[in-house]
Amino acid sequence: MNSYQSGTLFIVATPVGNLSDMVPRAVETLQSVSVIACEDTRHSKKLLEHFNIDTPCISYHDHTDQKATEKIINRLSNGKSVALISDAGTPLISDPGYRLVAEARKRKLEVIPIPGACAAISALSVSGLATDKFRFIGFLPSKSSQRTKVLETLKSASDTLIFYEAPHRVLAMLEDVSIVLGPHRIAFLAREISKTFETYLHGSLESLCVEVGNDSNQQRGEIVLIVSGNGIIKESLSIEAKRILKLLMKELPIAKASSLTAKITGNEKQELYQLALRLQKK
Ligand code: SAM
Repeated sequence: MNSYQSGTLFIVATPVGNLSDMVPRAVETLQSVSVIACEDTRHSKKLLEHFNIDTPCISYHDHTDQKATEKIINRLSNGKSVALISDAGTPLISDPGYRLVAEARKRKLEVIPIPGACAAISALSVSGLATDKFRFIGFLPSKSSQRTKVLETLKSASDTLIFYEAPHRVLAMLEDVSIVLGPHRIAFLAREISKTFETYLHGSLESLCVEVGNDSNQQRGEIVLIVSGNGIIKESLSIEAKRILKLLMKELPIAKASSLTAKITGNEKQELYQLALRLQKK
């Protein structure tokens, strides 16, 4: 194991479901520090017991207890190392820890990550959607009207979008995403990653809404939703739209062929008509 100076803050990732995904370095670190700061001490007890870690635990939240940050910083400044864990996955990723790490950096304390599971990255890695540019959105607002407002701001984003959602809101959220970003966008729904009932759905947002709506099992458990960026959908739709338009143009006048293609693909009629004119000239 690497040796770090005393008074180091370790940000330790824990599994998102399957305890076998705990990395040995995480176990060693949690055994070696003076105290483990947990999002929920009762929740983390099971994990710590499983790995025979008997380091004392304290509870840590960014917002509920600001004094907790100060206490941990003092401990670090006195040369005692501390580890931060959340209920699952990588701390700070839609989990507590930002205030603590920012404060530690300000005080020039050493902060070291112990990498491991993260639901967003695990889901992205098997989504089949573009991974060169992606944007982590995390949780959308729980109210549909506010959710819609946030989604409106993401409509033209060309990077792949990653959302988290609580189980009881999956369908409502999927429907809003489909309405605002467009039913034909390709998306990926990763449910219960690494757990017994893990499932992965791939298809248009419209088809995911139908699949999830028809299967109550899909509305249970933890999910990550990944949605392709705007540029990608335009490109893939235009290939499909072009194919349909070309076929219909063989049988129908171009105005009729364009309006029928618009109805089938959801593309703009005017855009298709312009394309039909260009194709006609070829
Ligand atoms: N820090 C965690 C991480 O690194 O992924 C995320 C914590 S956030 C409070 C919890 C959300 O992460 C869930 O609502 C869900 O969207 C996602 N998530 C966590 N575990 C998951 C799993 N096993 N399968 C799918 N999504 C999961």
